[in-house]
Amino acid sequence: MSTLMSVEEAIAGILSRIGTVDTETISITEAVGRVLAEDVISDTNLPPFDNSAMDGFAIRAEDSGNNITLNVVMDIPAGVNPSETLEAGQAARIMTGAPIPQGANAVIPVEDTDADFSSLDDASLPEQVTLGRVVEQGAAIRRLGENIHEGQTILTAGTVITPAGIGMLASLGKAKLTVLRRPRVAIIGSGDELVDVDETPELGQIRDSNSYALSALIEQDGAIPLRQPIAPDDADAIREMFKNTLEQHPDLIVSSAGVSVGAADYIRAILDELGEIGFWKINLRPGKPLAFGEIATIPFFGLPGNPVSAMVTYLVLVRPALMTLAGKPHHPRMIRAKTAEAMRSDGRRTFARVTLTQDEGAWVASETGTQSSGAHLSMVLADGLLVIPEGVTAVDVGTELDVLLLNQSL
Ligand code: AMP
Ligand code: MG
Repeated sequence: MSTLMSVEEAIAGILSRIGTVDTETISITEAVGRVLAEDVISDTNLPPFDNSAMDGFAIRAEDSGNNITLNVVMDIPAGVNPSETLEAGQAARIMTGAPIPQGANAVIPVEDTDADFSSLDDASLPEQVTLGRVVEQGAAIRRLGENIHEGQTILTAGTVITPAGIGMLASLGKAKLTVLRRPRVAIIGSGDELVDVDETPELGQIRDSNSYALSALIEQDGAIPLRQPIAPDDADAIREMFKNTLEQHPDLIVSSAGVSVGAADYIRAILDELGEIGFWKINLRPGKPLAFGEIATIPFFGLPGNPVSAMVTYLVLVRPALMTLAGKPHHPRMIRAKTAEAMRSDGRRTFARVTLTQDEGAWVASETGTQSSGAHLSMVLADGLLVIPEGVTAVDVGTELDVLLLNQSL
């Protein structure tokens, strides 16, 4: 056990070999979730002009008071640039977002006047308006530049663009943005027993599921999956698969299966030929065997073939690498939960598949049936992966542990 590499050592070793992708310029309509590659500096003030925060009348505050009547001389709907200057004793009907006319220094909301805004055409413009109260100078006016001033840094390079950020970028006129590319991740696999999803397996065969599950994880993580056809267990065919894969210019290559020490697992031998690969024994369950290194300078992960192991090692080891490539922070979504039952482990750091329920505000984790690494359904049913720490072989009912969330809607 002491010879096993810790998960943290493995991640640190992996990340030390991972760079960041280069940039591309995209439309704002494609930018949510992408990583800004440039600082965004405002070349404008927001609001760009003094404007009304209410539907009402623009006036001079010094004219205001209870039962004061003013002459209505202008109508300023949103989108109109008022040409005249407001004089003493005058008012302008004004809508929310419309520019404050010269001479005015406050807005009185319609509900504090005798006016009726149920119709807003020219004919409905009253000749006079009677105010119901005093208003302070600046009341209900949104000032030029009060949110953002010209030259202000709004977002810095490295920021992940949110929907609110998209709205702001639109306000600033940023129709195109320079962002980090989405990492391109090739997914490969091999096995004489594997057939594609639309084929009927014969005795001894199963359908390839890993390349589909890994593609889905990669897509969910914001990268571009490049799923390659499964190669047979044949050295030349596997060499050909690597050649075709490299022609797609991936930023990362993820293989499932073929890295165990089996006579028919040619990937392992060919990796030695084509790249520099280490075979790691990590203190992680499920998660054996695992290969990591480079093929023609492209980082390569050789994940285990069992569907559960392939997904768990993706989540624990590949995802941090993918986030680093993408220039994104990697914060696993973790919660604390109490175990609903006693559990056993073999002393490695174990990621047990669990469902999660709420009990009086606390999360409770229950195992999703058999935890064999071939039990694909245990992963399908899981809301999360309960982390049983290394060195622990028995967990009591009610023990509080970390859970890595899988269910995106929890
Ligand atoms: P291997 O590492 O090639 O010995 O594979 C380990 C186990 O994973 C075997 O039971 C394989 O049939 C299974 N396996 C390998 N690749 C896939 C795949 N792409 N989809 C589903 N199961 C797989
Ligand atoms: Mg195999």
